Amino acid sequence: MSWRATILTLFPEMFPGPLGQSLAGRALREGRWALDSLDIRGFATDRHRSVDDTPFGGGAGMVLRPDVVDAALAAALAPGEAAPEGAPEAAAIPRPALYLTPRGRLLDQALVRELAAGPGVILLCGRFEGVDQRVIEARGLREVSIGDYVLSGGEPAAMVLLDACVRLLPGVMGGAGSAEEESFSGGGREALLEYPHYTRPAEWQGRPVPPVLLSGHHAEVARWRQAAAERITAERRPDLWARHLRAAGRAAPPPR
Ligand code: SAM
Repeated sequence: MSWRATILTLFPEMFPGPLGQSLAGRALREGRWALDSLDIRGFATDRHRSVDDTPFGGGAGMVLRPDVVDAALAAALAPGEAAPEGAPEAAAIPRPALYLTPRGRLLDQALVRELAAGPGVILLCGRFEGVDQRVIEARGLREVSIGDYVLSGGEPAAMVLLDACVRLLPGVMGGAGSAEEESFSGGGREALLEYPHYTRPAEWQGRPVPPVLLSGHHAEVARWRQAAAERITAERRPDLWARHLRAAGRAAPPPR
């Protein structure tokens, strides 16, 4: 049973887009995950196939209608529905349904790990001013943001979330251990940004690689990497650094 993503969107032709390339694309072709997109407009019931309307209370923009979005969600949640041709039967465990919105909980590696460990996701992509609040509540959608900025639609956010999840699926990343070593991923460096990387040539434009990395001394290399990760995190992300210190039982720095 492969991990499955269903996208509810007004622009199904945007998918797989970048997710059809490179690591995620190869994994898709290998059947390590499945992707299907549902056109929200296909669930409109009037003769104009309208999906949106003006906001109650006035104001600019349009809002996606709850009845149309709900019908699309019902189709995505129904077992076996919307499965792409040749895809395995829908997962017995229900997939979480998420609404991508700047108002949501910030996507982080902990949430990515949680979602990647489950059966897959159903992702609702908003457009215009967003989605009628009642369908978000009625369907218990988890609201997730990819950052403190406003996109014109949820599709790029869905792609970001899926890319982050798919690379954690079994067999997707080649090098064992690479997922544990990187930023936010633990491996003894819980919540730290990653140390810098270097490759050949050993000297480039007068800039040598830190000598310890050429020493072949694994313990020294590990110590250097840990120290570099700590320095970079403390400099760039005081929030992560404070969390790391707390997790390590060390005193958090005074608030800045
Ligand atoms: N009126 C909304 C607000 O101020 O919060 C913004 C709506 S935005 C123009 C249209 C759609 O893009 C949203 O419904 C959402 O699906 C998506 N979107 C925009 N920014 C996002 C972000 N940072 N994270 C996730 N989705 C986002």
